[in-house]
Amino acid sequence: TYFFQDSSCRTAKQRLRRVLHWGPLIALFIIFYIAIYTSRLLLIWWPPLKSHSNLLHVAVYALEYYLVMSTYLKAMFWGPGFVPIGWRPIDLTDDQQLKSLLQWCSICKGYKAPRSHHCSRCGRCVTKMDHHCPWINACVGHRNHAQFTYFLLFAPLGCLHSAVIVSYCVYYTLFYPFYHQDSEFPTEDYAMMNLWEVLLAFFCLGLALGTTIAVGALFFVQLKSILRNRTGIEFWICDKADYRLECRHDSMTAHLSIDEAGQPPKFQYPYDLGRMRNFKQVINWSGRPVGNGLDDWPLAPDCGKYDLTKEQVLQKAHKASTAVLASVIRAYTGTRFPISFGLRTACCQPCSIWIEEKRLSLSPGQRLIVTRAHGEWLYGQLLLADEQSQSARDASASRGWFPKKCAMEHWIDSAAATAGDNGGNGLVKDKKVQ
Ligand SMILES: [Zn+2]
Ligand SMILES: [Zn+2]
Repeated sequence: TYFFQDSSCRTAKQRLRRVLHWGPLIALFIIFYIAIYTSRLLLIWWPPLKSHSNLLHVAVYALEYYLVMSTYLKAMFWGPGFVPIGWRPIDLTDDQQLKSLLQWCSICKGYKAPRSHHCSRCGRCVTKMDHHCPWINACVGHRNHAQFTYFLLFAPLGCLHSAVIVSYCVYYTLFYPFYHQDSEFPTEDYAMMNLWEVLLAFFCLGLALGTTIAVGALFFVQLKSILRNRTGIEFWICDKADYRLECRHDSMTAHLSIDEAGQPPKFQYPYDLGRMRNFKQVINWSGRPVGNGLDDWPLAPDCGKYDLTKEQVLQKAHKASTAVLASVIRAYTGTRFPISFGLRTACCQPCSIWIEEKRLSLSPGQRLIVTRAHGEWLYGQLLLADEQSQSARDASASRGWFPKKCAMEHWIDSAAATAGDNGGNGLVKDKKVQ
C-alpha cells in the first residue's frame, strides 16, 4: 500500500534512469571506493579465517556496508512519494473555501496536500517535502525520510570505521622497520604498500573523513527536524509566519489579533506532537512511513487540519502584496557566468541557482514581479499575456534569478503592502493589465 504513489523506481529501466546522474554516480563511486579499498586492507591485515576476533571484525564491517548500501538505495528508489495528479481533499467541496485553505499547483493540476511542495526537479508535488537531494537524484520526503535518515547515520559510522582501518594500516606500513619483528602483523610482501598505494590510501582516508564530517552534520540537522516534526521548508514557513503576523500587528488591522500582553500572536505549528511522538512518526522498525502522506497527519491539540496550508496561502498573498514591479532594461541570455555584468555579479550568485532554482533569460521591455533579492541578483516572475500563463510549462519557465542590472524598479506599492492579506493576488493582476 506504500507504493500507491509513483515516485518509486520499480523496473530496472526506471532505476537506471535515477542512478545515471552526477549525484548518485559520485556518491556510489565514493561508497565503492572506500568499501573496496578498506576491504582489501581488512582481508590482508585481519584474515577472517585466522581467528574469531578477525572474523567478527570483517563481519561487522560487512554489516555496516550492507546497511549503508541498502538504506541509500531505498532512499533513492522509493523516492519521496508524490501527491496524485489532480488531488483535492474529499472533506472540502466549496471551491471558495478550498482556495482560501490550500494552494493550487498549476503543473500537477491539483491542490497541494498539507505539507507537500512542488519540486521543479521532480516535476511533481512531493509529500512532506524536505529538500531535493542531488546525491540520490530525488527529493527527500514522506516516504524515504526514515531510510534517508538511517543512511545519514550509517554512512558516517562506516566511514569512520574505514578511516580507522586505513590509518592503522598506513601507520604500520610507514613505520614497518620498527615493527617487523612483531609476528602479529603481516610481514609478507603483498601487505606492504608502495608509494602509489600510500597515495591511494590517503585518498581513501580523505574521502572517508570528509564523508564522516559532512554527512554526520546532516544527520544532526535531520534529527532536529524529526524531533520537532518540521521539515527544512516548514522551519522556513514558521519563520515567515511570525514575520507576517508581526507585519499585520504593525498595520491598522492588527487590533483584532493582539493578545493580552499586547504581543503579536505567534504562529502555532500544527504538527508538533512532542518529541517522542514526533520521533515515532518517522523512525520505527519497519522503516516505512506512518500515514498516507496527504491529509491524515496527526495534529497537536487545538490545531486544525489546514492551519499550515492556510498560513501558506496568506503568506503568498502577503508576498505578492510586498512584491516590486519592474521592467527589463537590459537583456540577459540566462548564461551561467554573465561576466558582462561585472565580476561581482558573475561570481556571487545565489546558492539556490546551482541546486534547485533557475536563471531567467530576459529581453528589454518585458515586465516582471520581483519577490526576492540576493546581492547582485533578483528573483522574479515574468508577467506574460494571460493565455500564455495558462500553460503550466510557461509558469515554471517564467520564474528565476537574473542580474539586478537588468531591471528597473517601477514602484513599490505601499498601498498594497498595507492591504495585508486581502487581495494581494488581485492587485498584481490589475497591474498586469495596466
Ligand atoms: Zn505540483
Ligand atoms: Zn525533487
